[in-house]
Amino acid sequence: MSDNTSETVSSAIREVVDANHILFDQGVVDGFGHVSMRHPIKPNHFLLARSMAPALVTEADVLEFDADGAPVEAGGPAVYLERFIHSEIYRIRPDVVAVVHSHSPAVVPFSVVSGTKLRPICHMCGFLGAAAPVFEIRDFAGSGSDLLIRDAHLGAALAQSLGQSAAVLMRGHGSTVVGNTIRQAVFRAVYTEVGARLQSEAMRLGPVTYLTEEEAEATTTTNNTQIDRAWLLWLKAARNRAMAT
Ligand SMILES: [Zn+2]
Repeated sequence: MSDNTSETVSSAIREVVDANHILFDQGVVDGFGHVSMRHPIKPNHFLLARSMAPALVTEADVLEFDADGAPVEAGGPAVYLERFIHSEIYRIRPDVVAVVHSHSPAVVPFSVVSGTKLRPICHMCGFLGAAAPVFEIRDFAGSGSDLLIRDAHLGAALAQSLGQSAAVLMRGHGSTVVGNTIRQAVFRAVYTEVGARLQSEAMRLGPVTYLTEEEAEATTTTNNTQIDRAWLLWLKAARNRAMAT
């Protein structure tokens, strides 16, 4: 690799590490969940940590995976079972540069109720569009699965359910959020959790007025210019907290 290429890859790996730490500090992931980034030089490959708690990920833990979700270096450390979420979304969404999968708690209720969808109720959540689709794994894995996206077949079904959306809920499991940068994917993952919490609270108070699809689009356009503001704050908070423990 030339110096430039290797610096590009190193800086992508650093962003993946920072994303892991931010997502933990913001309460999106706990011991579980993962975030990946499309490889900056080999666009059908992606970067994802080995199987471990996101808060503990270091640069040495970030591995390269191929288009089928296999680690490029065979015989390495254990990898996430659900890596096919990432590989299959990258396969059908060339616009997607980063993927966050989490079990963030306020979102899960919206994956299991009928008649209520996760929709944008405030400007920060405009990326949810009309409503987040819900993936029903039972349609593909039967009624006895462990709900995990364990293979490429299930990953492809999830990717189809995501379609062109920014977020897809996974029934009884969690959600997966995508972005055209890793910072945008992290921003959306944080605000998917915030939006779910706000929507639950609003619904307890009375009928909810949601953003129109036009408002959702306009707010997304505005927010897309502000992502670094949140990222830099969240990164500082995550580093401060890590140093304090
Ligand atoms: Zn999961």
